[in-house]
Amino acid sequence: MDCRIVTIPGDGIGPEIVREACKVLDKVARVYGHSFHYKEVLMGGCSIDAYGVPLTEEALETARQSDAVLLGAVGGNVGNSRWYDVAPNLRPEAGLLAIRKGLNLFANIRPAYLYRELAEACPLKKEIIGEGFDMVIMRELTGGLYFGERHTEEVGGVLQATDTLTYNETEIRRIAVKAFDIARKRRKSVISVDKANVLDSSRLWRKVVEEVAKDYPEVKLEHMLVDNCAMQLVMNPGQFDVVLTENMFGDILSDEASMITGSIGMLSSASLNESKFGMYEPSHGSAPDIAGKDLANPIATILSAAMMLRYSFDLDKEADAIEAAVQKVLTEGYRTTDIMSEGCTKVGTAQMGDLIAERI
Ligand code: NAD
Repeated sequence: MDCRIVTIPGDGIGPEIVREACKVLDKVARVYGHSFHYKEVLMGGCSIDAYGVPLTEEALETARQSDAVLLGAVGGNVGNSRWYDVAPNLRPEAGLLAIRKGLNLFANIRPAYLYRELAEACPLKKEIIGEGFDMVIMRELTGGLYFGERHTEEVGGVLQATDTLTYNETEIRRIAVKAFDIARKRRKSVISVDKANVLDSSRLWRKVVEEVAKDYPEVKLEHMLVDNCAMQLVMNPGQFDVVLTENMFGDILSDEASMITGSIGMLSSASLNESKFGMYEPSHGSAPDIAGKDLANPIATILSAAMMLRYSFDLDKEADAIEAAVQKVLTEGYRTTDIMSEGCTKVGTAQMGDLIAERI
């Protein structure tokens, strides 16, 4: 298979972790007979330094012309006046919002998986962890409360602020389809999270999700109220396979789900549009405190590359091989500093990439 991948290393540890992900992809290409063609573009602080803006129209267009985008992270220390003493739309992170919008990435997928080897980092009790957990949160990313009409006004001498939460059935249907498609590749269960006992938007959400479910008879659908879901995530995380939810609920629940894995350097993510196209990136930021020191954990980015193979290129076997290689390296006791524990072997960013690539 021939794939055109745009890489956006970005700032801080971004270039180091994207380099390792490409190392692993190159090994996959050699072993399984694919060709991955990379084109690198700038985004974030490095783009501000080069062009004065966090994302140029050319960079966006290059991304648009590719099959998938692999992103490191953008941003720096807020003390960096060159990047932060400017209007918010010119700061490094504005590039991120612009590319998500420009590529119409409406579906955000964040897996939360607990590696047995890292169970000590999980803040939950052993009896709650049980056999571990392996879920993905599917969050709608371009609608709902964060994109609705808002204003602040004075009413009768008192300040009053209003935000509006709007969803139409098209927006709900397309994210539900993505969730069911992914569930079909996993354990075939979707839990759709809403607040249908209160909100009209949630009642429409539930109705449309039920309609979509009819096209996936092999996938089991359940509904859960968001307040209950927040409790269930810390009481019985093993019950979740695919969690489907709207923008704000997903924002909160995906952070809760990542917290219970305990290791920020391990968490991958994907943002997809209507076609197979997606942008793949670790859930963490650019970690300027450890940039350039060979201390960054590249696993989140490597697992994001595995998601790219699975969701954009339908290369499931190859994605499985990357995930199995990560698992093997952890079982053999290799750890970067952030996940180090007693009795394990500490390795740097580049060596972790080598170890994973060697096991493919
Ligand atoms: P961060 O995720 O960059 O770092 C938080 C802590 O986790 C730091 O101590 C860091 O050293 C550590 N850490 C993060 N990733 C790691 C990894 N792969 N291996 C080892 N340790 C890791 O969050 P922050 O410090 O709040 O933000 C730093 C910068 O990143 C800011 O400019 C912020 O705006 C930006 N940011 C970017 C993105 C993105 O590009 N998607 C996301 C979040 C934050």
